[in-house]
Amino acid sequence: MTKRLAVLGCTGSIGRQTLSVVDAHPEEFTVTALSADKNTEALLPLIKKYRPKAVALRDERAAVRLKNELPRGVELLAGESASAEAAAHPDADAVVVAVLGMAALPSLLSAIRAKKHIALANKESIVCGGELVQSELKAHDQTIYPIDSEQSAIFQCLQGIAPGGVERLILTASGGAFRSWSLAEMSAATPEQALQHPNWDMGRKITIDSATLINKGLEVIEAHYLFGVPAERIGVLLHPQSIVHSLVETVDGSLLAQLSTPDMRLAIQYALTYPQRLPSRVTKLDLTATPLEFSKPDRARFPGLPLAYDALKAGGTAPTVYNASNEAAVELFFMRKLGFLDIARKVEAALAAIPNVSRPALEDIYEADRRAREFVMKGQ
Ligand code: MG
Repeated sequence: MTKRLAVLGCTGSIGRQTLSVVDAHPEEFTVTALSADKNTEALLPLIKKYRPKAVALRDERAAVRLKNELPRGVELLAGESASAEAAAHPDADAVVVAVLGMAALPSLLSAIRAKKHIALANKESIVCGGELVQSELKAHDQTIYPIDSEQSAIFQCLQGIAPGGVERLILTASGGAFRSWSLAEMSAATPEQALQHPNWDMGRKITIDSATLINKGLEVIEAHYLFGVPAERIGVLLHPQSIVHSLVETVDGSLLAQLSTPDMRLAIQYALTYPQRLPSRVTKLDLTATPLEFSKPDRARFPGLPLAYDALKAGGTAPTVYNASNEAAVELFFMRKLGFLDIARKVEAALAAIPNVSRPALEDIYEADRRAREFVMKGQ
């Protein structure tokens, strides 16, 4: 049966790749709802092509601009809760959450409560809302199908392992642009140098997070909340080729890995078709083409990574502070007000300074997010 999708954040990279998966399988998927932040120029051609029942825009002024150009019969949702409304659209079977940043959290919660099949690309919603999301998933007997390539790899490896069979999760990291640089070189690194990242086509902010390994720190927290494995049983390995997307070690000593060419469409498609597998346009992997290398990340060169474990062990709002202070610090790095290695120092200082709130409600998470950003920006 055709799956009817709500694609939230449809004008971004994951949103567009989701629509290319839809194009490849027109008999499997239709588009019921599209949401975007405010980019009406990118959104309008998508509305004309996919003819969704509903369109959501966060920015009200952008919604006014779009209104006159909407084809007949397309419902327009506007404002802060528009995306969350689209997530609960009665005609949508599945929701792809590809909204950027912590703004995705209300949409994720809305999709859980509406009992949709959820394909999640956004990591901040799980990192910041982890405990809240876990309890909502439990209350509504729901599951999340991850799109983040590492989490998808782990999810794929976990299939067929009975409870109690998992020893360890191992996330792989490309190591970013500075993986072979010295500490002294790293401390003088510029935004331009950090943005030269070879393996994945990513946005600016996440490229910096790959170079600091804070992206991997966020994924350690994400993996904990998605798969219920404690921090001390989640490891990270540097793997510059980005071919092995992550691994699961079982209690009997097997290592299961998922390998493919780096292409997000594979993870998107699997999250939507699970447990089925369908053909895809992803280039098949040639194992003889590149040797695969693995090494342990050096704590001194990647101080942002161990801080994620501290935040995860502290729980409550600490993961939100980890995420928000990093976002603010990366902004300052782009403005050349902060050195590359200072990013992790700011995160560490924010974690120490901002009081933790255990079992946070949505408002506590927003407040921790606001305080962490303010803390980093005020220090300038
Ligand atoms: Mg990832």
